[in-house]
Amino acid sequence: MQLQPLFLKPIFQERIWGGTLLKKHYGYNIPSEKTGECWAISAHPNGPSIIENGHFAGKTLAELWMEYPELFGHPLDKAFPLLTKILDANMDLSVQVHPDDTYAKKNENGELGKTECWYIIDCKEDAEMIFGHNAQTKEELEEMIAQGKWNDLLRRVKIKPGDFFYVPSGTIHALCEGTLVLETQQSSDTTYRVYDYGRHDEKGNLRELHLNKALEVTQVPHKAVKTTPIIETKENVTITTFIQSEFFSVSKWEISGIAKFSEGVRYLLMSVLKGEGTFQYDGHAYPIKKGVHFVVPVGMGEFAISGNCELIVSHP
Ligand code: ZN
Repeated sequence: MQLQPLFLKPIFQERIWGGTLLKKHYGYNIPSEKTGECWAISAHPNGPSIIENGHFAGKTLAELWMEYPELFGHPLDKAFPLLTKILDANMDLSVQVHPDDTYAKKNENGELGKTECWYIIDCKEDAEMIFGHNAQTKEELEEMIAQGKWNDLLRRVKIKPGDFFYVPSGTIHALCEGTLVLETQQSSDTTYRVYDYGRHDEKGNLRELHLNKALEVTQVPHKAVKTTPIIETKENVTITTFIQSEFFSVSKWEISGIAKFSEGVRYLLMSVLKGEGTFQYDGHAYPIKKGVHFVVPVGMGEFAISGNCELIVSHP
């Protein structure tokens, strides 16, 4: 069978904090004016990606994982371990925290934990996000939450396009209004909401909080993980590797011209964020352009990408 890149059909999730940037930026056919998430590369049951091209067209990525493990190098993971999303935070997201693998396995029906990371595609001027907290002990954290001392508790950081943040499980965090982000995360949908700014949903109810679980999983005191990008320049490509962690590696590839790659043992998740070009493999050329997401299976070995484009590339 001829190996091909696996192009995926994005799935959209409406959220009360969502907007229309996914359409404006990427031309996606979004379901409403409150579209918060594009699940771009997903094998999670809450939004499974479907293959669009070639021999496997119509199958889900999760089916492929089970039926053709050779495409992924016969992995040990039970399920496809990663999830790539693009998020349009048109309003502040609720302040939240995610469990790690051990806690999620025990308390969330065997789900994975959720360590995630963010590449800021675009944001409004002076945009911020919430990243970490100022409590020194669990007692202090509990007390400040109970007393609603949110301004003292929550740390805010300024963000700008091109920034990258690693958000390990146990980190209190929230995207704030006016932010478009590519998120690479463990394939998990478990979130504990800590604070929702006292907002009401469409039915006039306060959204549910999960304070007990949040207190159990939050890292205290907060320790920020500083990441230092490694920049590598090769012929016609600059590769910026933001993170190489136990869960995933994430890089930005900026291509101008024809760039050749050699990758034998890993499968790669690719998202085109800017520009256009072609993915070339074994005499075939596959057009790519911004907003397109695909998986490069194991075994391709040599391939090339030509054009003027910027991609986020990840692998477990
Ligand atoms: Zn999160």
